[in-house]
Amino acid sequence: MTSHGSSATPYRFSAAGAASRPRFIGSEIYRSSSYGAHHPLAIPRVSTCIDLCRALGWLPGEVYIDSPRATPAQLARFHTPDYVSALLEAERTQRVSPDARRRFNIGCNGNPVFPEIFRRPATACGGSIEGATLLRDGGTVYNPAGGTHHGRPDRASGFCYLNDPALAILTLLDDGLARVLYLDVDAHHGDGVQAAFANDQRVLTISVHEAGRWPMSRPTGSDDDRSKREDEGTVTDRAGGAARNLPVPAGFNDSEMAFLLDRAILPLAASFAPEAVVLQCGADGLADDPQSKLGLSNLALWQVVRAAKPLAPRLLVLGGGGYNPWAVGRCWAGVWAALNDFSVPEQLPPAAETVLRRLGWRHSWGRSPPEHWFTTLADDPRPGPIRTEVRDIATRVLAPADGL
Ligand SMILES: [Zn+2]
Repeated sequence: MTSHGSSATPYRFSAAGAASRPRFIGSEIYRSSSYGAHHPLAIPRVSTCIDLCRALGWLPGEVYIDSPRATPAQLARFHTPDYVSALLEAERTQRVSPDARRRFNIGCNGNPVFPEIFRRPATACGGSIEGATLLRDGGTVYNPAGGTHHGRPDRASGFCYLNDPALAILTLLDDGLARVLYLDVDAHHGDGVQAAFANDQRVLTISVHEAGRWPMSRPTGSDDDRSKREDEGTVTDRAGGAARNLPVPAGFNDSEMAFLLDRAILPLAASFAPEAVVLQCGADGLADDPQSKLGLSNLALWQVVRAAKPLAPRLLVLGGGGYNPWAVGRCWAGVWAALNDFSVPEQLPPAAETVLRRLGWRHSWGRSPPEHWFTTLADDPRPGPIRTEVRDIATRVLAPADGL
């Protein structure tokens, strides 16, 4: 395989004309914090991305920002004060009352009480708010801890206690921007962000996700959402014009992602003419991820990142899902390379390989990891046929609302 990306061009230029190197927002809180030994988020993710980028010489001190933690007052821009107080109380006492469990969906349904139940998500939010603030005059910011797209104003959902993308978008709007594009390529529907901006014509949310997967398919007795409509996340669901949804079939491959990018996502983005793009780059649509049946290589997600760069003078890139520690770490380090036009080496240098060899994973797929999970960043491409149902999505998502 050849190396990926063009020759290194370390600087991007913002609309303001100033040299503006992409900035990386991280925190050590993610290294030591875990949702619990048996939770899918027991794995290190952001710390692996940081360690890989440092081992590759891609993360000099001057571009790294230690994430601030959002204050309760900042969180109240989107979340209810009662809910924020409940998270603080759960962190302090390490328990939740039955009433709080029912009202706020914490301590159950994949949203466990853990030692940093307030601090960790509040740090991800602080990073995304900071990122949005730094974009005032243009530029690119990467906060891989962000992307918690299921969080609701008054409760947790799908491992997301808070909703940092919504807070970032609100920050951009409060700064006076009139059009923000939110693009979400996580395997799950970006339902919390879509709901936050439904009927708000200043924000266009585009979500590419696996059809029929949670949160759209709600088995009886699950963490349900009383406000959900039956068509949520389907191609007909446009949230009053503010959303477009691309629910893709199992086995979704790199060629199909490239097709939807060229034939649906980029045309939608061009006609919206955003002043800022917020890209949620969940890595759970990768073939190596156990939480979806999508079949992408990380090259497909890096291509989305590269395509997002010229869409607006401001770009905030977030993480999201990703439940295979090797796949998510390699993918998100490559996202940083794509933002900087760094060449991804075919074979990792020893220091980067050591980062990957030190990881472990309590999953059957983690018992004997393939060698390339240790020695490479780029997956082999996963091309395939462009299926009729994928072509239909592009047609339907671009059609006028009454043409669906
Ligand atoms: Zn996901």
